[in-house]
Amino acid sequence: MQIAGQGIGNRQSKIKSPPGHQHDLNAARRRFRNRFRISFRYLGLAVQQSSVYIHGNQFDGHTLILPRPAARRHTLYVILALYRKGTDLTDRLYYHDSFLREFDAVVVACTPEGPRWKVILNKTAFYPTSGGQPHDLGTLGDAQVVEVVDAPGANAAAPDASSASDPHHVVHYTTAEVSPGPVHGQIDWPRRLDHMQQHTAQHLLSAAFIELFGFQTVSFHLGKEISSIDLAAPSIVPRQLEAAERRTNEIIFEDRAVEIRFGTAQELAESGIRKKVDREGILRAIAIEGFDRQPCGGTHLASTGQAGLILLRKLERSRDHWRIEFVAGYRALTAARGDFAALTESATQLSCALQDVPAGIAKNIEERRANNSAVKRLEERLATLEAHALLQQNPETASGTRLIVATPPDATPAYLALVATKLTAEKNVIALLASRESGHVVAARSANLTQDLGTTLRESLKEFQGKGGGAKHFAQGALPDPSQLDPFITSARSRITNS
Ligand SMILES: [Zn+2]
Repeated sequence: MQIAGQGIGNRQSKIKSPPGHQHDLNAARRRFRNRFRISFRYLGLAVQQSSVYIHGNQFDGHTLILPRPAARRHTLYVILALYRKGTDLTDRLYYHDSFLREFDAVVVACTPEGPRWKVILNKTAFYPTSGGQPHDLGTLGDAQVVEVVDAPGANAAAPDASSASDPHHVVHYTTAEVSPGPVHGQIDWPRRLDHMQQHTAQHLLSAAFIELFGFQTVSFHLGKEISSIDLAAPSIVPRQLEAAERRTNEIIFEDRAVEIRFGTAQELAESGIRKKVDREGILRAIAIEGFDRQPCGGTHLASTGQAGLILLRKLERSRDHWRIEFVAGYRALTAARGDFAALTESATQLSCALQDVPAGIAKNIEERRANNSAVKRLEERLATLEAHALLQQNPETASGTRLIVATPPDATPAYLALVATKLTAEKNVIALLASRESGHVVAARSANLTQDLGTTLRESLKEFQGKGGGAKHFAQGALPDPSQLDPFITSARSRITNS
């Protein structure tokens, strides 16, 4: 046993503090013994002089359990307690029991901070935001817990000097004051269970990518609806996603045990921990029977089957890595249910079976393409006929220039431009075309003329709060109020005639 190797005997009854430390180790031992009812004879104490940082969690000042692999095979533990007098460190109940939904504690401090109250307890089952997992919600007495953070202890030095070795405690922010003394805490269980389903599924997925392809997970984010991991990989193809999803679900369906382990970095490395850790002191690790073991301070399921199912939803390149979005547990159910509802609605609109939806959509797109090109051909023919009729109605005059004004019904801007182009293909034509429905206006002239229609149209439109302009031979714009079209045409006509 490593601890014994550090010079602290397993059956020692009197423990000395390490040099320079003022620990009341016997008090720590008593406290521990009362809690776990372990005989003094088998109770060993060890002291770690530096704290441990796991996924952002301070693991300092807490009672730790190490499996003792010696004589009696199953029940014995070596206990490590770091007992710091005068600090207000919180005993983190969730480190040992992720399924603790309610607990009794003592309020150590409650101080107002803005509109909220800052509550510190002697122990808590509330998980503070860290390691990619969001904080719990719930109640302390009658007060709502709205945020939980991991904060440096009151005895820590100046904030910039604080480090992993400073004592930390869990701070609960509440909407109301919580009186000092005993309090009953209750965790918002659906929220916590959801976090546990996503977090355990993440460990499985990350392990599956390593097992199958050797891709390491570089970060994990547990979002409100979607969770994601970033993988260090040269490239990832859909086939690999499917394989990792399948392997993860196999492990889920095999319902393997998920266990919390404690040990030094060396001990965990010897037992095959996934991530290499250089930190000193005792680490917490999550072990999935025969599959994975990694350092983690988060809350986890008791067995993989409780994750239900994992679905990988999206793959995208994210800077140097590949980001994979996934959902597990109830989220997977919600996602699958939502997909099914969307697909059913699409099938109803297409009047086809679910599996025929992709083909139905492809057919619709193809039909729309064909319709669009038919409309284009018809518009072309119609514009030719309309231009021809307009030229007939406005015969050539002695002055030479023909000003043709028209407002074709239901004309799109593109159609007006088309008719204008056909009209001005003739010599000596100026066309002023507009839509009564949209207020869109087009002005164009034949190439042999010299008027600057861009300027003329812009000035005419300005008079009616409209905007537009263009080249000398072709310009367009729009009137904000189509009912002003007739006075606009009168004004524009006189500008063009006098230009
Ligand atoms: Zn984790």
